[in-house]
Amino acid sequence: MGVCEDEPGLRSVLTRALRNVGQQVVAVATAAEAMRAFRSTAPQLLILDIGLPDADGRDLCLALRAAGVDAPVLFLTARDGLHDKVAGFEAGGDDYLSKPFELEELRVRVDALLRRRTPIRRVTMGQPLLDSARHALTLGTREVPLTPTEFRLLGRLMAEPGQVVRRRTLVAAAWPMGGLVSDNTLDSYVRRLRRKLDDVGGGAITTLRGVGYRWQ
Ligand code: CA
Repeated sequence: MGVCEDEPGLRSVLTRALRNVGQQVVAVATAAEAMRAFRSTAPQLLILDIGLPDADGRDLCLALRAAGVDAPVLFLTARDGLHDKVAGFEAGGDDYLSKPFELEELRVRVDALLRRRTPIRRVTMGQPLLDSARHALTLGTREVPLTPTEFRLLGRLMAEPGQVVRRRTLVAAAWPMGGLVSDNTLDSYVRRLRRKLDDVGGGAITTLRGVGYRWQ
C-alpha cells in the first residue's frame, strides 16, 4: 500500500494505522518520490494527498495511471473541497476523504477499496511517461514540457491504452473547471500533443472521427 502525504505528522499516523491492520506501507512525501516508489512496485492501494509540495495529487494520479498503475486511489483533500472532490474523480481517483478525518473512517474506505479487484496492467518498455511535478512528457533522456491542459488530456488517454476515450470524457478531464470547449479546440490540442510525442519519439494518438481518440 502506498501513501503520499507531505505533512510528517499525518504521514506517520496513516502509516501506523495501516500497519496496525496488517498492511505493508510505503510512505513518501512528494509526487516525485511517489512516481519512483509506486511505478515499479504496483501497490494494492494508493492514498494520495491532493495538496503536495511539488504537484497536484490529481496530476500525480494521472501520471501513475499513465504509467500503468491501476491500483484504487483514495484522495485526501482539504475540508469542504467540493470542487476537489469532483475533479478527483475525473483524474481517475476512486474515493476521497476530507481532512481532518477519523481513523475509523479511513479504515472503512480502505477496506471498501481493497475489496475491488484491479487487474494488473503492464506498460510496454519504450513508452513515454508523464512527470506530474514538472508537467512534462519524458522518454529516456528526452523531455518536452506540457501545459496543464495538455498534461491532463494526455494522461486521460494514456490511462486506457487501446481504448477509445470519448470527446466528452476528454474535455471533462482536461478542462476540470467545465469551460466551453469546442471540437476545434480539442482537435488542436491533440495536434499539439502529437507534435510533442514526435519530439520524444514514442506513443501515438489515433482519431475515431466524431467519437474520440485512442492512445496506443
Ligand atoms: Ca498537503
